[in-house]
Amino acid sequence: MADLLERRYKTLGPYSPLFYAQPLEFVRAERVWLTAADGQRYLDGYNNVPHVGHAHPRVVEAIAQQAGTLNIHTRYLNHRVVDYAESLLATLDAPLDRIIFTNSGSESNDLALRIANQHSGARGLLISDFSYHGHTQALAVATTGLVAHEGLGAHVRPIRVPDLDAADASRPEAEVLASSLAEVDAAIASLQEAGHGVAAVLFDSLFSTEGLNRVPSGYVAGLAKRVRTAGGLVIGDEVQSGFGRTGRSFWGHQNHGIVPDLVTMGKPMGNGHPIGAVALSAALLDEFGPRNMYFNTFGGNPVSAAAGQAVLDVLAEEGLVERAASGAAGIRAALEGLRRDHPWIGPAKGEGLFFGFDVYDRPVGEAGAVPDPGRTKAIVEAMRARNVLISRIGRTDSVLKMRPPLAIEPGEVGILVETLADSLAEVEALSRT
Ligand code: PMP
Repeated sequence: MADLLERRYKTLGPYSPLFYAQPLEFVRAERVWLTAADGQRYLDGYNNVPHVGHAHPRVVEAIAQQAGTLNIHTRYLNHRVVDYAESLLATLDAPLDRIIFTNSGSESNDLALRIANQHSGARGLLISDFSYHGHTQALAVATTGLVAHEGLGAHVRPIRVPDLDAADASRPEAEVLASSLAEVDAAIASLQEAGHGVAAVLFDSLFSTEGLNRVPSGYVAGLAKRVRTAGGLVIGDEVQSGFGRTGRSFWGHQNHGIVPDLVTMGKPMGNGHPIGAVALSAALLDEFGPRNMYFNTFGGNPVSAAAGQAVLDVLAEEGLVERAASGAAGIRAALEGLRRDHPWIGPAKGEGLFFGFDVYDRPVGEAGAVPDPGRTKAIVEAMRARNVLISRIGRTDSVLKMRPPLAIEPGEVGILVETLADSLAEVEALSRT
């Protein structure tokens, strides 16, 4: 392992991060279980890419079968991409009736920005003040949540996304809504005054990077309305929240009662096979299409389309979205139970099979209580020591992040929750010594 790590540093360099101080090396995986090089098995409570389960036989077979039959450049006619586009569009609401295929979430968001810029004739962009949407040049200057040397573009306005379970817990919801939307108004006014205009707002419906913020009811709809009034488009980034992750709906934006102008997707779409897309209306595409030769060598190739179709088929056949919803109620109750024993953890956050909670240095609500990244990290490490993999997110890295493949079974959710109980007890005991 030490040798492999050394070779990785020598070839890829030391800057692409690995999880854990002592990284794990995996050699195979199945459904929600990962097997390490030393033979140990780990429960995957973190990974949203193998959405329907690691190495799902249906997806593996679809990829292998199509790769062994035909894989071509997207400029030849083939039925796979059309079949898949029809299936995907059936999950989206009107007026979203066209798809452009890409290969990643970054590519999708970059293209969505380009379409929004051309539509509005403006460049101004609203973005959450702690978010991540990808690695292209246009997105690097809009990155607020992770290191990006470029710094924010002059045309970018970060807005603070409220959180009724953490920073805004002590304020009435109506007041939080009003002040948060006033901040949106101010950001729009600032873009207009600076001459940038408003091209778009780009947001993740689950506010994942931010820390699974619970926003006031009407916040996202209010945000969308203001951006549209200013001439901009609404871009819903479904890379994290899409494909039934939240259980309540197939798409995260549906939970907020809105239909974005552009929906971007990636990560779980091909269960690990690289594929992404932008969904939009025919009217928007007809505006963009004639002025731009959009050509993507791999986007929507037959193998990618076969992988994407297999994911949709498995989701439907195995009822995985419904399972995410039914599993979530139990998880929420279990997490609330843990709060009784450990009052220093915040309320259960997230939706469906993307859940977590804030971790504090003392009981929530006690004077002086602040988020505790050290404790959060210790919990993640204690879980790993018990062979369960989770992670952490948020502005101060103090929100636990659990996001298993939707294929997780109730008994395995039980393992996750029990291991969490043991890990919390261990970390609490340690902090007393
Ligand atoms: N949007 C969101 C919300 C993401 O979480 C990510 C990746 N973590 C991206 C976009 C970028 O996707 P990709 O890495 O496939 O380019």
